[in-house]
Amino acid sequence: PAASSTLLVQHLSVTYGRSVTALHDVSLRVPADGIVALLGANGAGKSTLLRAVSGTLPLHSGTVSAGSVTFGDVPLTGRTAADVVAAGVVQVPEGRRVFTGLSVADNLRAGRLGVSGLGRDDARRALAEVYDLFPVLADRRGQAAGLLSGGEQQMLAMGRALMARPRLLLLDEPSLGLAPLIVARIADVIRHIHDQGTGVLLVEQNAALALELADHAYVLDVGRVRLEGPAEELSRSDEIRRLYLGEQ
Ligand code: ATP
Repeated sequence: PAASSTLLVQHLSVTYGRSVTALHDVSLRVPADGIVALLGANGAGKSTLLRAVSGTLPLHSGTVSAGSVTFGDVPLTGRTAADVVAAGVVQVPEGRRVFTGLSVADNLRAGRLGVSGLGRDDARRALAEVYDLFPVLADRRGQAAGLLSGGEQQMLAMGRALMARPRLLLLDEPSLGLAPLIVARIADVIRHIHDQGTGVLLVEQNAALALELADHAYVLDVGRVRLEGPAEELSRSDEIRRLYLGEQ
């Protein structure tokens, strides 16, 4: 049921150490059937938000100091990364972070670690689906991931996340550093993932791309939500055009 897989971030504050407040009173919502974009300049707190949701804030330094995160009726605040994955929320981290020494196939299999209750047949089906979606990964299944191009590594990171059968995918800068043709391919895949019924929270510096893909968007500015609204509306806003779309 749709209502049971909405991500709700409510009044979230995150601090690093004693003095850095990276997020302050941030609230946002990702409906089960939505693509939501999170925009903002460097250091605005976008990665921090994803990490607070996925349970991967740096140990001993990043702390949720107020607020809550829930996915459907499952509270995620303070849960481990493994618990969050088990709840169906899977992050594709920035910078790909594939296991460069492992083969493409083993990287994909690693996406199943800690995922229980789906069984072996499902793992085989998931692998076949990922190879369908990214034929280049099938061609290179035996190669070390470190030999892939940047775009292929991004595809591998997305494929690895899909192996866990996410209900919500957290994407951190999937277009970063990629050539336009590859970005278009990644955008198609994000649409496809969404069409298959998976919610997407998309962090992007490429605001034009994000607003094109998303239904709804939030703009973070120094740790606070500065603007939010339907993506189409935001892409017409003068402020967004000036600050994030590079127009005068
Ligand atoms: P970028 O696009 O550069 O990744 P961002 O919007 O994702 O930026 P964050 O990485 O979330 O922003 O950073 C938000 C704030 O928190 C920044 O002021 C940053 O310096 C600080 N910060 C991030 N990680 C840490 C950390 N591990 N320790 C201390 N401060 C941190």
